[in-house]
Amino acid sequence: MSAYPRTPLDHWLERKLGLPTNTAPDPEALADYQLERLRQTVAYLREHSPFYRRRLAGLAAEPLDSLADLARRPFTTAQDLREHHQAMLCLSQSRVARVVTLNTSGTTAAPKRLYFSDDDLELTLNFFHLGMSTMVEPGGRVLILLPGRTPDSVGDLLARALARMEVQGVIHGPVADPAETLAQALAVEADCLVGIPVQVLALAEHPAAQSLCGKIKSVLLTTDYVPRALARRVEAAWGCEVFEHYGMTETGLGAGVDCRAHQGYHLRAADLYYEVVNPMDGALLPPGEEGELVMTTLTRQAMPLLRYRTGDLGRLLPGPCPCGGFTPRLARVPGRLSNRLDLGGGVGLPMWRLDEALFALPGLLDFRAVLSGDRGKRRLELTVRPTPAMAHDLAARAAQAVKELPELAEHFATGELTLGPVRCIDLAWISDGTAKRSFSLPR
Ligand SMILES: [Zn+2]
Repeated sequence: MSAYPRTPLDHWLERKLGLPTNTAPDPEALADYQLERLRQTVAYLREHSPFYRRRLAGLAAEPLDSLADLARRPFTTAQDLREHHQAMLCLSQSRVARVVTLNTSGTTAAPKRLYFSDDDLELTLNFFHLGMSTMVEPGGRVLILLPGRTPDSVGDLLARALARMEVQGVIHGPVADPAETLAQALAVEADCLVGIPVQVLALAEHPAAQSLCGKIKSVLLTTDYVPRALARRVEAAWGCEVFEHYGMTETGLGAGVDCRAHQGYHLRAADLYYEVVNPMDGALLPPGEEGELVMTTLTRQAMPLLRYRTGDLGRLLPGPCPCGGFTPRLARVPGRLSNRLDLGGGVGLPMWRLDEALFALPGLLDFRAVLSGDRGKRRLELTVRPTPAMAHDLAARAAQAVKELPELAEHFATGELTLGPVRCIDLAWISDGTAKRSFSLPR
């Protein structure tokens, strides 16, 4: 017997695969199911999507006898979602229930566009329902700190999924005023919060956070990389259990969630198939190696995606989970491939390393890093947001933590990199809304 309850995603997979409940783990049955779904998806795309009919022309004779054969098919890129979204649509516009337009911040590139049918949204609801059952029980109340005003937006779907398990989801939206959000959490008797990592940290370490001690049992952090140091601080503030979710609009919002063993995200494996490829040449990497995550939808109706290059770094975890679950797992996703401080010569510091170093500092709630100058003479500027009680020496501690990063030590020593002013401000959010945190490059 495992010390942890098995992920509820196992039961969902058992149903999808037609296996009896509590069947012994069977990766082969899952592989057979995914292969059959892949074949159906490729056939469906050829029939209904002008874009994929062209893209797959000449590949009809390519075998699809095993999951590895998928690697013979071409990738779909973010650029395709910008330029060819209409030709990727497989249904008539009248059957599209939701269109999501994604602008890339700071660029003038055309937005990515994704289409979802009612059935597609139903599958997302189903996944949210199962995922949340890991951390909340019937009768519970969840305060949702994500956008939810628009029908079928992430917050709205989550609230509807929770209603299916007799949990009340209260849509609050992103945090603007931590004191107000904490008061609402208390008023609605929330026992779970779902939100953006830096926003939840600001709540957890707010002077009024004590009022929720013992009341908040679980927290789900989503939309961005979750620094371990940040998760530990949220756990310490409320004595709660912190869960993490991984997903993006392209995956139909949800893609994976950790179980109570917290050893990676159990994937939505009946709906999504993941490969890991070398980001340089696109070659398929063996299980366990880190590379770019490539995702194929297995059940999407309006706009299925074949081998979509997510731009996220990640790796699949080998072997069963300590929870006993057989649903495949992704290791914690360390963020976007492009989200690194480029120091030249192929050397760089990924954002997550800076995240871990800085969020380990008591009193640091958020930060922004800006890199300027040319190669060989770069300057890194930092702005840090403190908790009011710990503002006095935070800038100095942040500067010290950055200077101690082993990846940067040599660059500081040679003068190729200098640390610009480290400013400490406690006025407003540094991260804008739901955007992912990234290194800013001045233009
Ligand atoms: Zn597990």
